[in-house]
Amino acid sequence: MEKKQPSDKDWKKKLTPEQYKVLRQKGTEKAFSGEYWNCETEGTYVCAGCGGPLFSSEAKFKSGTGWPSFTEPVDPQNITLKDDVGFFTKRTEVLCSQCEGHLGHLFQDGPKPAKTRYCINSTALKLKKK
Ligand SMILES: [Zn+2]
Repeated sequence: MEKKQPSDKDWKKKLTPEQYKVLRQKGTEKAFSGEYWNCETEGTYVCAGCGGPLFSSEAKFKSGTGWPSFTEPVDPQNITLKDDVGFFTKRTEVLCSQCEGHLGHLFQDGPKPAKTRYCINSTALKLKKK
């Protein structure tokens, strides 16, 4: 896949301030505030930055966390996982492989058997309805 990397200035123009904060500055939206945490519409969630397909509504489940949660990505190649080491925590950051935008974090408290929970900011996603 060819990587096109817009400059920071381009991103500021392209994205809303909220999207910029999450995707480019690794921000986190407030729980229960996003557009998709409670959304049950069928479709594919694509990256708000580059439009690449990330998660399917079929992999979405109710986590009760207030953020859209998925058991698995559409294609593992479409996302990049990175260790995110904080002062007291070690989390796994989830990034879009194509534009390297920050999407959210990966936790291991999801439904069995895989137990993976991709906790993603609504702001980083756009739902393409079926
Ligand atoms: Zn992207």
